[in-house]
Amino acid sequence: MIYTLKYVVLTGLLFASVLFPAENSHAQALEVEFIGNEAFRISDGDHTIMTDFPYKSGAYGYMEYEYSLPAETQNVAALVTHRHEDHFAPLLFIERGWSLIGPAEITAMMPRSKVIPFTDRITFGAAKITPVKAAHANVEHYTYLVNWQNKKLFFTGDTEQLAVLKNLPELEALFITPWFYRKAILNQALPAAKKIIIYHHTKDEIVPKCGDCIIPLQGQIIILE
Ligand SMILES: [Zn+2]
Repeated sequence: MIYTLKYVVLTGLLFASVLFPAENSHAQALEVEFIGNEAFRISDGDHTIMTDFPYKSGAYGYMEYEYSLPAETQNVAALVTHRHEDHFAPLLFIERGWSLIGPAEITAMMPRSKVIPFTDRITFGAAKITPVKAAHANVEHYTYLVNWQNKKLFFTGDTEQLAVLKNLPELEALFITPWFYRKAILNQALPAAKKIIIYHHTKDEIVPKCGDCIIPLQGQIIILE
């Protein structure tokens, strides 16, 4: 009798877990894959953010890439800092079924259906994105603070404006260019971050005073957990 009851309870639990999967069953550790320049594919298994991608391979002499794009087109958004071709290529973007988060200089030429409204706090899946305007050349340029699974990721883009590094929360990962890293060190302006991930570097680039930095190779996967 006791055995039968156990069996019934276990079977019941099994059915319940199939019928009513836990709310967070999709939530995986964030997987971050380096593509080239400032392009990463970041995914929680449910939503995917492509930073500064698709860009024009080899533009301005920066990194070329051969990258097979994620098969999924649902729940993918490009998060773009500015319009330079080593960060964003409109014609390559248009071919994808992705959404777009970026400056008006880029989104103005896109079909409305592909554009996620650009506000002070943008929601994409479980990610909350805060854009902060920052200087770069004469283009409209934003840095992004992304809060995802309670981890804070900050993307500097191409700016060298030290002010953007002020008043940041404690970061899980800081994505920063080698030149801005150097400048931040010189000015003692580097924010607290568990991981410093260099991007827009050249292959084999040596970044001084960056012993604990991650300087990713193309195709390298970093897990944030
Ligand atoms: Zn650039």
